[in-house]
This record gives sequence, C-alpha cells and structure tokens, in this order.
Amino acid sequence: MSVKINQRGAYPKFCTDCETELNPGVNCYLSMYRNGSYKCHACKKKQSKIEHDIKWQLPWFRDKKAKYLEEYHKQEPAGVYAIYYKEDIVYIGESTKPMQRRTAHFSKHVKKAEHVNKGQWQQPIQKDLALGKIDRNHLSFEILEYIQDTDERKAKEKHLLDQHKAAFGEYPKYNTRLTDKPENRHYYGKRKA
Ligand SMILES: [Zn+2]
Repeated sequence: MSVKINQRGAYPKFCTDCETELNPGVNCYLSMYRNGSYKCHACKKKQSKIEHDIKWQLPWFRDKKAKYLEEYHKQEPAGVYAIYYKEDIVYIGESTKPMQRRTAHFSKHVKKAEHVNKGQWQQPIQKDLALGKIDRNHLSFEILEYIQDTDERKAKEKHLLDQHKAAFGEYPKYNTRLTDKPENRHYYGKRKA
C-alpha cells in the first residue's frame, strides 16, 4: 500500500490497492470514500471475499453468525418450500423456519469435502455442493406457501411430493423422507481424486 497517495486535500484520490483513479459512485462507494477508505469496487470486492473466507475459519465468527441468523429466523413464519436446480425442482420441504433451512441446504461451509469422504453426515444438497457436483449459482429457493399449522403444513408437503411424482414419475432428486427412496441414496460413493 502506498503512503504517498491520497494525502489530505489531494485530489483526485486513487485506489490504495490498484491505484486507479477513484470516482465516487462510479468505481467506488461514496460512503467509503467519505470515510477516507480509498478502494475501488474491484479491490473492495476482492478484499471482502478474502475477509469472508478468513472469517469463516474463525469459530468466533461462525458462532456470532449463527446467533445472528437465529434471531433473524425467529421472525419468520413456517411454510412449505421448494429448492430448484436450474429449472427443476430438486427438493420439497417444510419447516417452521424455512429460511434457516435454506441456509442449511445451501451452505457449503458446514462440512467440507474431506469430511464428506470420511462418511460424515450432511444434507445431500450440501454434500453435492461440497463435492463440486452441483453449482451453487444454479440453486434457488422459493417459499411455496406459509402455513402455520404443523399437521396442515406436513400434509401439504406430502401432497406436493406426490404431485411431483405423479407429474414427473419420481420424487424430487434430493427428497428421501416421505418418498419411496432408500434414505441413504445420496450418501454413496467416494470422490474420485
Ligand atoms: Zn483498486
């Protein structure tokens, strides 16, 4: 990082990483610029990515994030949801906290490939994410219906699963519970090195 650029009163200011000229609101955040944090969008993005990855290594950060999410998810109504991979429904589920379930399904941070290969359990979608079999960018999540009553919600889940089977000849790829699939269908195999 250069110390000679961006001195008090000096204009224009330059990105402290790549030294490109900064145009607030165009290639850097105005709020950061005002705070004297001179980084362009691209360098800020790189930095955020590194910080994010590093933070996830820290138990303290994971705990804090878990606590934050817990609070956040408390405010959410129960419901039935679907997970799509590209255009296909790959999972139908119900939860008292659907968004929390979403986080769990989509997270690749919970268990890494080496743990999967040691046979440690995790959600099948997470497993395929961790193993690189599916691309997170193609996953999407949708609340199909908010239903507070547990029995009604579970009945709806089952109904939707059966509807899927009737329409497509099989249950969604990642559903095992409430279906005719063996529970361990997605837990086979080792990654080919
Ligand atoms: Zn830069």
